[in-house]
Amino acid sequence: MAATAGRKTTKAVEPRGGQGLSIVVPCYNEANGLPHFHEQLSAAARALTQKRGLHCEVVYIDDGSKDATFTVARALPAQSLDVQVVSLSRNFGKEAALMAGLQHARHEAVVFMDGDGQHPTTLIDTLVGHWLDDGYDVVYTAKAHRESESWLRRFGVKSFYALINWRSRHKIPEDAGDFRLLSPRAANALRQMPERNRFFKGLASWIGFKQLRVDYEPEQRAHGKTSWNFASLIGLSIEGLTSFSVAPLRFASMLGIIMATVAFIFGVMILYETIFYGKSVPGYPSVMVGVMVLGGVQLIMIGIVGEYIGKILSEQKARPIYFVAEHIVKSAGPRNPAASRKRGSR
Ligand code: UDP
Ligand code: MG
Repeated sequence: MAATAGRKTTKAVEPRGGQGLSIVVPCYNEANGLPHFHEQLSAAARALTQKRGLHCEVVYIDDGSKDATFTVARALPAQSLDVQVVSLSRNFGKEAALMAGLQHARHEAVVFMDGDGQHPTTLIDTLVGHWLDDGYDVVYTAKAHRESESWLRRFGVKSFYALINWRSRHKIPEDAGDFRLLSPRAANALRQMPERNRFFKGLASWIGFKQLRVDYEPEQRAHGKTSWNFASLIGLSIEGLTSFSVAPLRFASMLGIIMATVAFIFGVMILYETIFYGKSVPGYPSVMVGVMVLGGVQLIMIGIVGEYIGKILSEQKARPIYFVAEHIVKSAGPRNPAASRKRGSR
């Protein structure tokens, strides 16, 4: 299994002693902004080492970028923190990239953050503080304001969380982003989740432990543009919903029950009118409307069921979540300045 082969290459590099932190950064076409991001991250890591004695490493996951992300990431200096660059064999999507980072991380505690400069590196210290000083296991961030987003997007986000949390025992916090810190036991719990259809925001909330929300103001993207458009956001929402919740199925059953009840009452009324008043069957339009509404609802419900069958199929095939093409490890400090390079996992 290539994903595990990728893991093997990682295991060859021994974790260091002492407490440490692995910062996982998924990158898709981020070549332009990466050097500046790395500078900021190195400064944050230096401060963490001085203040708390934490060894830091960054794990850049090049998620099949079409630009020079891998070349740029490979040249980044390992000063103040170790650098790993894992290049995936193609674009597998952010969730798979995060999983690759989680599996390659050499330290037990992990931070997930974007490589586009939107997640402030200065916040890492706050997240670490809540973990080390206050004992939280999952410290997740949420956007303090959403005013800059269109009403359509805000409405979409609201509806998504309303549906995914509907009658669910494990509420996924609204507005939570992927920028988060995972304590050693939380990171381990996430590594144990075997599913292929991953939705980290949901999984990180599902595992439990002590969780804390931290509000922050996201920065503007430093370079390039977001890889999400309206269609892909809808795709992600369907993915998140169906891989994490059975709410749509429940919704389908409820709707079915309501429709059947209305149809039954309607049938009784028609029978009553025919028997007692001798009225003939109402006209063609009402029949057509009924047929079309029912047909539409049935098609939607078949689609929902189909989404779940698709999920079962892909879980059943149990394919690896990603393949590693190249893996580079650079260690900071005078002990081992040379970079070691490993060819991918065949
Ligand atoms: N990303 C990725 N694979 C993808 C799409 C995005 O690794 O297929 C990375 C991207 O480089 C960035 C992060 O995921 O670091 C968030 O992506 P983006 O900025 O496009 O999303 P947004 O911030 O708009 O939600
Ligand atoms: Mg972004």
